[in-house]
Amino acid sequence: MSTPIKDRYEDVLTRIERACHNCGRNPDEIVLVAVSKTKPDSDVLELADLGQLHFGENRAKSLEDRLETIHNDDIQWHFIGTLQTNKIKYMSHRVNWIQSVHKKKALKEIEKRASADNRVINALVQVNISDEDQKSGCDPDDLESILTYGQSLKHTKIKGLMGMATFTDDAEIVRPEFQKLKALRDKYSYLSEGSVSLEHLSMGMTNDLEVAIEEGSTMLRIGTAIFGERNY
Ligand SMILES: *Cc1c(COP(=O)(O)O)cnc(C)c1O
Repeated sequence: MSTPIKDRYEDVLTRIERACHNCGRNPDEIVLVAVSKTKPDSDVLELADLGQLHFGENRAKSLEDRLETIHNDDIQWHFIGTLQTNKIKYMSHRVNWIQSVHKKKALKEIEKRASADNRVINALVQVNISDEDQKSGCDPDDLESILTYGQSLKHTKIKGLMGMATFTDDAEIVRPEFQKLKALRDKYSYLSEGSVSLEHLSMGMTNDLEVAIEEGSTMLRIGTAIFGERNY
């Protein structure tokens, strides 16, 4: 049976395939994270039934609520929003990926909590790549010291970088921002040692997924195109 969410989901998969085809990439290289935000659990479960495995939330409380109500061990949960160190303890028992690490203090807390639960949490370092919002992500100049710190962690694996482009559908504004994230990944790939391996570039949302794929994204975070418009 066709439902609005199934149709939108298939449209997104088609967009990804087409964008990969156009630039000679393999769609299997790309992890699609479905960003559920305010949408009901039933939407998440419907997508999980369709084979979608990765889901993301941008608020600690929303993720905490999902972890309480959805019990599907196949799902990989991602935290993608502004990370407050004191909220890590509410997700560390189950979250698989924390994409928005922007300082050593957050890594230290993730390591402490994951170690206590004897688990491994994947992390991405969020870098500020747009001039729009100075608050999201670390300064590129801080990357070297954050990544060096991450090398010796045991329960935290730093898998790459995350960036949010300026909120616009103008490809010529977002493209250089994505290029900047990829250039930073390439520049610091020599720090891939121990628990650091910079294989992932999490970039691309509903408006800019095609440009992100062209510029090397390996992880897309898609909300609206899958779940429909939000009220905020
Ligand atoms: C909401 C959100 C997304 C998804 O945005 P859409 O434009 O709805 O696809 C991606 N990343 C972050 C950090 C978000 O907060």
